Amino acid sequence: MTGVSPVVEVAGLKTHFPVRRGLLRRTVGHVYSVDGVSFSIAEGETLGLVGESGCGKSTVARTILRLVEPTAGTIRLSGHDITRLGKKALRPHRRQMQIIFQDPFSSLNPRMTAGDIVGEPLKVHGLARGAEREARVAALFEQVGLRPGQMRSYPHEFSGGQRQRVCIARALALRPKLIIGDEPVSALDVSIQAQIINLMKDLQRETRISYLFIAHDLAVVEHISHRVAVMYLGKIVEHAAKDDLFLHPQHPYTEALLSAVPVPDPRLKREKRILHGDVPSPMRPPSGCAFHTRCPYAQDRCRRETPQLREIRPGHLVACHLRGPA
Ligand code: SF4
Repeated sequence: MTGVSPVVEVAGLKTHFPVRRGLLRRTVGHVYSVDGVSFSIAEGETLGLVGESGCGKSTVARTILRLVEPTAGTIRLSGHDITRLGKKALRPHRRQMQIIFQDPFSSLNPRMTAGDIVGEPLKVHGLARGAEREARVAALFEQVGLRPGQMRSYPHEFSGGQRQRVCIARALALRPKLIIGDEPVSALDVSIQAQIINLMKDLQRETRISYLFIAHDLAVVEHISHRVAVMYLGKIVEHAAKDDLFLHPQHPYTEALLSAVPVPDPRLKREKRILHGDVPSPMRPPSGCAFHTRCPYAQDRCRRETPQLREIRPGHLVACHLRGPA
């Protein structure tokens, strides 16, 4: 133990949304979007959070940012418990966390120049004005591989990759400790994806920033993550160091996601595991192991008992009845 607090630490995080129906808006059930998630991210580290659409990854992001209220659990930012802080007390902590979304076009105001967009957080927080703000924005443009001359261009004048660079520059403006990328490269061409991932890695080397990098595809997180957590129906089902997870996946869901990842060397073919069916509704998760409706190894016990996330070897956690400590 170094004694240094992780940049972000969530423990037992739950985000349940009530479902209301009828004239009196009676609560008829809950959507269990996030249902007991725990992880931490150290300074300069990237955690990849992976799972199919609807598994709760984006709700984890929104809950950490306190854009939605957690139902239970704690969120700590650099050791400070921010779970229940009011708006005013939360403000200085909010600056430490920024988010980049999947679609850079819709997250940029089309009527503002790129320079004004990137400089806006500095203006809102009263951190720089006039020539000083202009100089800081120009430096941010250079940092993300854009020309300061492009500060006067509008979002529609940029390519998709350049627009995501503008979003990254805006996220960096307040020098946050954590950037959450919610599918930040999913809308981009594969060659541009690599450029943005390389940019994010370079920025991490320069600034020791931490990332929570969310994707539905394991291939995307492979090149940026130090550790990877796999989510299914609101829960983490496997969590390990990146290489360990890619070389020795333990959960049947991770195996299936991994079998869809292309292998560059054709001699190293992976056995294809087709995932049948869709993710079940988070309003009515299956009993026992939520994956049992799609798991090729499901047994009676899986329908009855929920497997706990257990450490099967140092740093490798799995929630599956078939996997025990080595
Ligand atoms: Fe499959 Fe059972 Fe393991 Fe769930 S607990 S992943 S259903 S084998």
